[in-house]
Amino acid sequence: MSFYENLVLQTQMNYSRHRSVYASKKTPVRLSQRSPLPYDEQIHEFVRRIEEAECIVVGGASGLSAAGGGDFYYGDTPSFRKYFGKYAEKYGFKGAFDGMYSGFDTREEHWGYIATFLNTTLNALVREPYLDLDEILKGKDFHILTTNQDTQFIKIYKEEQVSEIQGDHRFFQCSDCCHDGTWDAVKPVEEMIKAMGEGTSIPTDLIPRCPKCGAEAFPWVRGYGNFLQGRKYDEQYQKVSGYIQENTDRKMLFLELGVGRLTPMFIQEPFWNLTLNLPDAYYISVNAEYDFLPEQIEDKGFCVLGDIGKVLKDVNAEIKRG
Ligand SMILES: [Zn+2]
Repeated sequence: MSFYENLVLQTQMNYSRHRSVYASKKTPVRLSQRSPLPYDEQIHEFVRRIEEAECIVVGGASGLSAAGGGDFYYGDTPSFRKYFGKYAEKYGFKGAFDGMYSGFDTREEHWGYIATFLNTTLNALVREPYLDLDEILKGKDFHILTTNQDTQFIKIYKEEQVSEIQGDHRFFQCSDCCHDGTWDAVKPVEEMIKAMGEGTSIPTDLIPRCPKCGAEAFPWVRGYGNFLQGRKYDEQYQKVSGYIQENTDRKMLFLELGVGRLTPMFIQEPFWNLTLNLPDAYYISVNAEYDFLPEQIEDKGFCVLGDIGKVLKDVNAEIKRG
């Protein structure tokens, strides 16, 4: 098992032991009691730490995509209505993920919904916070670790620079995981969307199926109980593990963006662990709702509580001002 996946597993065990604490949106980790610096000073420090860092590991999570207008996943927002309005009216979904967990009248309509879901993210432009982040990272040595499945990072960076440990909307897998293979979802999605037109269902013969066993396909993503954790999944963990292990002696900055309280095990807690254990590591988190800084690393990091889009914009502006 790769180095980083092992860290995730350790955190998952901890999560199971303290499930009720996490469920109440808290953490069992003892947090720093220090008051944070004023916002402007935090931005200044953020810029200084970026400039000083010899390598940067970015951890991009749901809050990052939501900040840039990708807020259709979790709530009944105007953007959700724009893309999923027909389904929202018929089934009363409150956000795109809600629909993914729901039953539909037919398989054809179920696939109409999945195609709409994938099409929305695959064709979304790269959002503002990602562009600001890209400017901030210009000229730096960095690696991106993300739990976002929406392909925003992969629209900017090469595959080898991005570890997508929760899957990616560009691929299908067998819904029964009968074999360790993933295949292209982009073209089938285009065809489903075209055939669906203004309706909510796709033609039966366009329902994507596993080439080996004939079961229905499914997007290659975690969250629905059938995530294929095979070769492609291992490759994602190998990338981030390799990057960190090659750079342990350098000044490494862990930059956590928008981790929610339900999944601290993929980015947040491994970043805390690494910041504590690597001699020259530093940690910055940006989050609209939580500023959890463990006491153990209070001299090696800080948390900016604020809108991720605004924070990245302010950091970028200050770098440009020099
Ligand atoms: Zn199969």
